[in-house]
Amino acid sequence: MPYFGVHQSIAAGFDAAVYDAANMGYDCVQIFSGNSNRWANKPIAAPEAQKFKDALEKTGQFTPLIHDTYLINLASPDPELLEKSIARFADELKRAQILGVPQLVMHPGAAKDDSREVALDRVAKSFDQIFASLPDNTTKVLIETTAGQGSYLGGTFEEIAAIIAASDHKDRLGVCLDTCHVFVAGYDFRTKDLYDAMFDNFDRAIGLDRLDAFHLNDAMKAFGSHVDRHEHIGKGEIGLDAFALLVNDPRFADKPMYLETPKKETEDGESWDVLNLKALKALL
Ligand SMILES: [Zn+2]
Ligand SMILES: [Zn+2]
Repeated sequence: MPYFGVHQSIAAGFDAAVYDAANMGYDCVQIFSGNSNRWANKPIAAPEAQKFKDALEKTGQFTPLIHDTYLINLASPDPELLEKSIARFADELKRAQILGVPQLVMHPGAAKDDSREVALDRVAKSFDQIFASLPDNTTKVLIETTAGQGSYLGGTFEEIAAIIAASDHKDRLGVCLDTCHVFVAGYDFRTKDLYDAMFDNFDRAIGLDRLDAFHLNDAMKAFGSHVDRHEHIGKGEIGLDAFALLVNDPRFADKPMYLETPKKETEDGESWDVLNLKALKALL
């Protein structure tokens, strides 16, 4: 049985995010390590980090995940933005280490006016620069599969494989598969045959041994639309059958699967995070 997790706000503290996830019945939590919309980040105080670690221990939570800020573009052709992105990503890795978080998930970025080949290589070079500057950092970077909209990289398994292949630090890289993103990017997995074909494809391109985590989101927009809008589990274009295949797949039985579905309550004031977890557990 996989570990089910949920993205939680750190507005009330890093520890509060852990307790909230645990209280809803989740096994683990995904957080931002700071303000996800601003370049500047205030340092994490040692007592804050300790409270977070204590909360993880008290609740017996499985490995947490940090999501990097959306501002970062390690593929940027703009030297100034690239420099800021590299500095901020290095900071994300340092913050993960302070919090004792073993994995950091990131979006590979956008090529903008550059060719995709040049941009993919730039992501790998950025990683290498950052990893070389932090030789003792043990947090693994998970490249997330994306919706592949416009010049955004990571909409195909081959693009993610190209980044890994071009890096000198392959051992520090893994992958997070987002169900909504792959679906709108053009990978259908709504039947057993299509599901098997998608993961065969992933295995050929990247290798299943690099698949370290999942984001479980249904898709509001159509298959192949390249439009990234997350929907509640079973309420979107992907549907419950596909999620049943995934959560019962023995290959992923020890993997964390984090929800990033909308937070707004139902009309009856019920928590969607609770309902989505219930929907997933009913499939097991
Ligand atoms: Zn995601
Ligand atoms: Zn998304």
